[in-house]
Amino acid sequence: MKNIMNRFDIITIFPTMFVPVFNESILKRAQEKKRIAIRVHDLRDYTDDKKHRKIDDRPFGGGPGMVMMPQPLFDAVKAIKGRRKAKVIYTSPAGKPFTQFHAKRLTKAKNLIIICGHYEGIDERVRESLVDEELSVGDYVLTGGEIPAMLIVDAITRLIPGVLGKKESLIHESFEDNLLEGPQYTRPANFRGKKVPDVLLSGNHKTIEIWRNSRALALTKAVRPDLLKKDKGV
Ligand code: SAM
Repeated sequence: MKNIMNRFDIITIFPTMFVPVFNESILKRAQEKKRIAIRVHDLRDYTDDKKHRKIDDRPFGGGPGMVMMPQPLFDAVKAIKGRRKAKVIYTSPAGKPFTQFHAKRLTKAKNLIIICGHYEGIDERVRESLVDEELSVGDYVLTGGEIPAMLIVDAITRLIPGVLGKKESLIHESFEDNLLEGPQYTRPANFRGKKVPDVLLSGNHKTIEIWRNSRALALTKAVRPDLLKKDKGV
């Protein structure tokens, strides 16, 4: 693991869901370049119930659904952490919203353990004793924490120095300076009568920059005015 900059350990009951996503494109390249390491752990390997590999049980006090038991999660986190310092994240609709700000911030955490919840979620004692941060990927409820975990790994990874090539720049991206990215065009300059704005063909970089900023501002005002009220970069 020499030169590995950021390591992600994911705890899930559906490890195979991650195989296609982590083995394509930029995430695959980032691993090959040893910028990141990703390990996916099957929670069922850590349950004391070796026969049925059970990891969930009925909620105390009644109610629908099942709750993920503390024992497998406590033992999984302990084994994965070993002697390393690691931040434990639980993906949860009740977490704070995961934004570009958090993606950037988490590039600094070299070891992240991400717990993917299922059913009605995890036993509260796991939250209290193991979880450092709870992150939500949006105001809706998904069936499990796997897609949020993929999303979090992806958003952090592309911000790690050396991951993106020159072709895929981070400059002018959406959420930089709390603005959405404005429109982009490529060849041909005239596609079936629909023309690229003249300014982009002018070769005048200063005017192009001003035009781009004005388009980004107009788009943000129209679609996400809330971003303009936020503190810079949050
Ligand atoms: N009963 C829970 C509630 O109302 O908050 C929802 C549980 S959900 C069906 C199962 C799991 O999916 C959660 O434990 C969490 O790990 C994951 N999940 C669902 N929606 C999510 C979201 N918006 N952000 C992050 N994780 C989410």
